[in-house]
Amino acid sequence: MARINDHFLKLKAGYLFPEIGRRVSAYTEANSEKAAKLIRCGIGDVTEPLPQAVRDAMKAAVDAQGHRETFKGYGPEQGYAFLRETVAKEAYADLGITADEIFISDGSKCDTGNMLDIFGPGNKIAITDPVYPVYVDTNVMIGNTGEADENGAYEGLVYLPCNKENQFVPAIPEEKVDLIYLCYPNNPTGASATRAQLEAWVAYARKNKAIILYDAAYEAFVQDPEVPRSIFEIEGAHDCAVEFRSFSKNGGFTGIRCGYVVIPKGLVGYDAQGGEVSIHSLWSRRTSTKFNGASYPVQKGAEAIFSPEGKAQVAALIEHYMGNAKLLRQACKDLGLAVFGGVNAPYVWVECPEGIDSWGMFDKMLEEAQVVITPGSGFGAAGEGYFRISAFNSRENVEEVCRRLKALL
Ligand SMILES: *Cc1c(COP(=O)(O)O)cnc(C)c1O
Repeated sequence: MARINDHFLKLKAGYLFPEIGRRVSAYTEANSEKAAKLIRCGIGDVTEPLPQAVRDAMKAAVDAQGHRETFKGYGPEQGYAFLRETVAKEAYADLGITADEIFISDGSKCDTGNMLDIFGPGNKIAITDPVYPVYVDTNVMIGNTGEADENGAYEGLVYLPCNKENQFVPAIPEEKVDLIYLCYPNNPTGASATRAQLEAWVAYARKNKAIILYDAAYEAFVQDPEVPRSIFEIEGAHDCAVEFRSFSKNGGFTGIRCGYVVIPKGLVGYDAQGGEVSIHSLWSRRTSTKFNGASYPVQKGAEAIFSPEGKAQVAALIEHYMGNAKLLRQACKDLGLAVFGGVNAPYVWVECPEGIDSWGMFDKMLEEAQVVITPGSGFGAAGEGYFRISAFNSRENVEEVCRRLKALL
């Protein structure tokens, strides 16, 4: 009898995006003419083509695979030295991070989920609310939670509410936790964390021997020079943090797949006897056993992001998306709505008009404007009363969305 992992049965049946899909299909079936005008500002996927520098590097790498002399089979599980060294030099200059502290992967979604392999049961896990659902569901799968209540909150997790009062950066908890997921700039709220806020989290983590799992997938969207792009800009973070980064949102790699985890060599966790164990060596061991490395052409493409042409092309992409965010922010403000995010992140987080909840706003936008947004409540109970508009779109679509918003309320 093949027994399954019972923890999977606690998962809520992937509620958010399937439900959006269901409502959009139902609308499309009933209103085929209007539905032809549908504009999707829902899912956080990039829309603009892959930078030329990346495509050139990937093509050359594929051609190299066509000759015995330059053919490459399995690469190092932790990533090719050329990419690890480039990341250390270009993304972490002056932050005290070395190439061997960088682990190249096939993306941050896997990394944030896989990281739980090396942490034991019994950790108190703190997760922001609203949140990127991967952190919650992977903790459920591995058995770090009890059952969900009627609001979808899992027993055993410490939820850190993010709201307009705290500007969507959670207060330091009164209780002691062991692992803390933070994501700034944030998906879904578009908020960024200040240096002082991150300093407070680092101080808390060090005091409690906790580890911060810092998701910096959106660091490239930071416009304000005062806003930290990396947790390692904060003094002391090398003793208490892991950072996840991805080429998905800056380089348009959502379909190419490449990211990395940064784990300082001095970072430790604790064994059953309270002895210190290197997190870096556990992750390296895990990677060698369960992963055979990101593909060579993909790593070559990722390296090209840091070339002079690559940097200029990525800067143009960021400028494009942030220009969209600015237009969307203004359109929502013009409607008299309270608008957050969209300044250092490609997501605009908007308070629903009086008397309309998140799904009510979703339906209204779909039916009256043929625009698909994401209801805030889908990211956690504290997201109720908000909706998210993604700036990942063509300028033409964004301008049309803004026109339709004007006519909406
Ligand atoms: C898009 C995104 C990522 C990146 O995921 P990949 O697997 O690298 O594509 C990571 N974290 C958050 C919060 C994201 O929104």
